Amino acid sequence: MTAEALNAVEHALATVRQKLEKALKQVGRAADSATLVAVSKNFDAEAVRPALRAGQRIFGENRVQEAATKWPVLRAAFPNVELHLIGPLQSNKAEDAVKLFDAIETLDRPKLAHVLADLRDKGAALPQLYVQVNTGDEEQKAGIAVKELPDFLKLCVELKLDIVGLMCIPPVDDHPAPHFALLERLAQRHGIEKLSMGMSADYDVAVGYGATHVRVGSAIFGNRYTA
Ligand SMILES: *Cc1c(COP(=O)(O)O)cnc(C)c1O
Repeated sequence: MTAEALNAVEHALATVRQKLEKALKQVGRAADSATLVAVSKNFDAEAVRPALRAGQRIFGENRVQEAATKWPVLRAAFPNVELHLIGPLQSNKAEDAVKLFDAIETLDRPKLAHVLADLRDKGAALPQLYVQVNTGDEEQKAGIAVKELPDFLKLCVELKLDIVGLMCIPPVDDHPAPHFALLERLAQRHGIEKLSMGMSADYDVAVGYGATHVRVGSAIFGNRYTA
């Protein structure tokens, strides 16, 4: 990356933080009541450094393997990094994911819940767990179906998995607000505290529906497909 591009990341990060604070203020929420998860997927360690230098410490990655190659070196250089897994997790990668991530936002099926509980029973410390909900009931999309959520949360209780939050990715062609509203209702109904929702295009909307975590990638790092 050129020096110019590094400055661009720093500048974009500041702009996103300002916009987030303003959106929170507009709905009467405290400026620090939503956490910015900077989504660094598809960008290499060098591209992520300026965000770390600017004080950002919470990052989202969507692939276990990519995170495993990128983050150990960055973590050695910057203290207190918190990593969130925001992409689908295959059961056979769960052990690596548990070691690498501080939060897994994409717990979305019974098999994975069993695998995580097994790892815990064998001594692993589990990251914070969020259940991903398929709020649009899209066939191809990850996430537990809305109507299956109550039973799935019951299973998590039986397995003694502590679910701290819900996460959703609204269908690309829908207005996101009804999906955010649905996720907020589901969290309230089940007494779940955290809500991970809102991306570059709509994180300001999501805070109006109680988002505690917004996952913002391209608005900070630029277009990942031309980087
Ligand atoms: C890539 C990704 C994001 C960030 O998307 P942007 O539109 O670049 O902000 C957020 N959440 C998930 C689950 C993602 O995969």
